[in-house]
Amino acid sequence: MHINKKVLLIVFAMLSLLCVLIIGNVFYNFVNFGKKETIERANSIAESVRDGLTAHMALGAMDKRELFLSNMIKHQNVKELRVLRSKKIIDVYGEGEIVSYKYDDVEKQVLLDGKTITQIVDNKNDSYLRVTIPYIASKYSTPNCLACHTNVKEGEVLGAITLKIDIADVKERTFDIIFKIVLITIVFLVFAFFISRHFIRPYIQLFDDLEEGISRAYKGDFSYQVKTVLSDDAAKVANKLNDLSEIFRFKKTIETDVDKPQIYERIAFILENHFHIKEFVIFENATTTRKREIVFKSAQMNYIDPNAMEKSKETCRAFRTNNITSSTDFHKICKLCYREEKESLCLPFGISDDYSITLLIYTNTQEELQRIKELVPIITNYFEITEPVLQTKTLMQQLSERSLKDPLTTLYNRRFLDEYIEKNITPSTQLSVMMVDIDHFKLVNDTYGHDVGDRVIVELAQLFKRVLKGSDLAVRYGGEEFVVITFGTTAKEALKIANTIRKEFAKIVFSTSHENFSKTLSIGISSHPQDSSSIHEVIKFADMALYIAKESGRDKVMLYQEFSDEEKGEK
Ligand code: GH3
Ligand code: MG
Ligand code: MG
Repeated sequence: MHINKKVLLIVFAMLSLLCVLIIGNVFYNFVNFGKKETIERANSIAESVRDGLTAHMALGAMDKRELFLSNMIKHQNVKELRVLRSKKIIDVYGEGEIVSYKYDDVEKQVLLDGKTITQIVDNKNDSYLRVTIPYIASKYSTPNCLACHTNVKEGEVLGAITLKIDIADVKERTFDIIFKIVLITIVFLVFAFFISRHFIRPYIQLFDDLEEGISRAYKGDFSYQVKTVLSDDAAKVANKLNDLSEIFRFKKTIETDVDKPQIYERIAFILENHFHIKEFVIFENATTTRKREIVFKSAQMNYIDPNAMEKSKETCRAFRTNNITSSTDFHKICKLCYREEKESLCLPFGISDDYSITLLIYTNTQEELQRIKELVPIITNYFEITEPVLQTKTLMQQLSERSLKDPLTTLYNRRFLDEYIEKNITPSTQLSVMMVDIDHFKLVNDTYGHDVGDRVIVELAQLFKRVLKGSDLAVRYGGEEFVVITFGTTAKEALKIANTIRKEFAKIVFSTSHENFSKTLSIGISSHPQDSSSIHEVIKFADMALYIAKESGRDKVMLYQEFSDEEKGEK
């Protein structure tokens, strides 16, 4: 059975049972009350009859008894009234006019043991309470019974009275009240049914929704969002499940993201679209060097200068203390993050031993900052779930960088050059290729040893870094052979740079324990797309130019373009 119907049925059954119990209880009490009330009425009539008869006797008006008794019958629903005499009274006063009838068994019993007997007769034709009440002799009663009835003792039965009292009106009243209660109960049950349906239904729907969401999540689908019209604790449960689903979905997605920038973009998307945080920056902090780099800046953060923030000598307080830093805690709590007319919140997240992340958020008001502070636990969840993925991506990045870099000079290697060309160079890219080779390098190794040879290679690599622009590319192509690509330059412009490199290198003095020495370079240059639209061919032509430079005496720069067709063909 559907949970909705099941709950309603249980509630309805319980309410119905409660109503039945209430009606039963009212009915029982009412019947009892009616009976008690009728018996009390009978007792009071019995007393009146006794007192009346005594009065008639005392006043010597016993001939009026008949009238008195028939008047008693007229009142108080008395259907029948019989006055009985005990044996001892009959012995003295005779049977009397009103006791000519025969006593039945009940009456005989009452006259014998002096105890009231009550019976209720309730059938189709008749409905009455029959009670036989004994008159007990007592000298303490008024008048004193024993004063007149001298042949009886204290406590003996003088006579009795049998009354049949109509209880039809009591019955009618009882049924009338029960009918009204049943009516009210039915109205209540119908009302309760609709009210409970109205209030319980959203909870049951939420329950169904939660079940659906959880079973989907169990199968690995975290896209289901639980919806509810409720706004109480139940809604909080729904929101928490939605948050969890979002986090798991986020985790699944970032695991397959290509690199760290893509992951940062995804975190930023969550911050902007789920948490409605508009002004924020994500920093990566190197633990040892304390260098910080902005890895994401939201669109509304155009009022900050990333360079100034990256280069500032101030250390971010959240990074330094590994604690959340809020501008509402203390004025200018963090000099780096402080901005006039802005509130700030900085959250630190450790990623690995090498680096951590800080999320810096700005708001215009304290209220908005407070709203975001309440989101910190869930934001932290997102970052914590990102942590192992970022660690893996960092490792992979380091590994791939290592495989693309030469460990001795830290310049990119030939493998990197091939990949770079593949991805970035189009047939129209303007560039020049220099093929650089140290002259008679073998001699260095042979004369001063391999270590000194290494120093020469490293020195040349450093020279490249000093002389070349950031956009240019120096690659260790082979042992002591380097490829330098200068972008946007013609052969003539590259020639100038090459000569600078050549001259600067020649100036370097290498000192050893034996003697000092200097080395020279030979460089061949070819340009793209002037010499060829194929970059691979351009590299080959630069190598040919280098060969000519070597052949023609070394310590030279040669341009492939200046070769005669014959030379070009020869080589
Ligand atoms: P040339 O002027 O014709 O270029 O003469 P060269 O001696 O420089 O040319 P060659 O190609 O004969 O010698 C290159 C030497 O560079 C051979 C090799 O032992 C040495 N070499 C290559 N890689 C390294 C390195 O990493 N460290 C050191 N110390 N030597 C290296
Ligand atoms: Mg050489
Ligand atoms: Mg060589």
